[in-house]
Amino acid sequence: MEKVAIVTGASRGIGREIAKELAKQGIKVVANYNKSEEKAKELKEKFNIDIFKADVSKHEEVKKIVDYTLEKYKTIDILINNAGIAQSKLIIDVTDDDWKRLVNTNLYSAFAMTREVCKTMINNKKGCIINISSIWGITGASMETIYSITKAGMDALTKSLAKELGPSNIRVNSIAPGMINTDMNKEWTQEEIEEIKQEIPLEKIGKVEDISKCVNWLIEDNYTTGQVISINGGWVI
Ligand code: NAP
Repeated sequence: MEKVAIVTGASRGIGREIAKELAKQGIKVVANYNKSEEKAKELKEKFNIDIFKADVSKHEEVKKIVDYTLEKYKTIDILINNAGIAQSKLIIDVTDDDWKRLVNTNLYSAFAMTREVCKTMINNKKGCIINISSIWGITGASMETIYSITKAGMDALTKSLAKELGPSNIRVNSIAPGMINTDMNKEWTQEEIEEIKQEIPLEKIGKVEDISKCVNWLIEDNYTTGQVISINGGWVI
């Protein structure tokens, strides 16, 4: 039987690569996007991947993706909680609106998607959930307090649900990337990137493929759960 996956935030960057890679393996993918309609349409046209517009920071839209997927494919085997936004601000400048936007987009989305999807997984007695967190959730990042909190929260979600859902044969893991070459880092100058590379033992920035390879492995595996796997070139050890 073909597996069915939902990937949130799949129009660009890491999520896009994960969606393409899963589809290449014959997995039926529902690739979620929010604002990047053109990029999402390209996924559909070039790679024949099903796309679904939804703002995953909102409960009613989360419900819509899950209902759509179940109506069309009848089941869900894999959930990749990838949608996310970053922000760099001093704590004294951060507003309550910043807090709501980051927490809802990065953390509530993962919680709400998981809560909906795991109902089907529990019935099926199988499932694989992967949360794309960040090294900053492990170490904390200066001027990225809210972002770091959301990513630490995702890792806590991973660990709690690995315990709760393990008996239902549902594995829950986090992948915590270091710096990966996507739009999220486009504000950095070339000079700044070169400086960052010098702090990384492997002396390079990661590629989206470095993350999708780990996703493939976690899907194939059947004895890894509750782990935070950090793919970061040795930046954080
Ligand atoms: P990106 O290139 O900026 O892509 C972000 C994706 O998230 C886009 O597809 C965007 O969709 C989607 N998204 C944002 N808000 C959304 C919402 N409310 N509803 C649905 N989709 C939404 O970022 P990326 O680097 O690929 O990051 C992917 C994940 O990896 C994020 O969770 C990020 O925190 C994490 N991460 C990235 C790095 C890095 O260095 N790049 C490092 C550690 C962790 P639209 O454009 O369609 O709105």
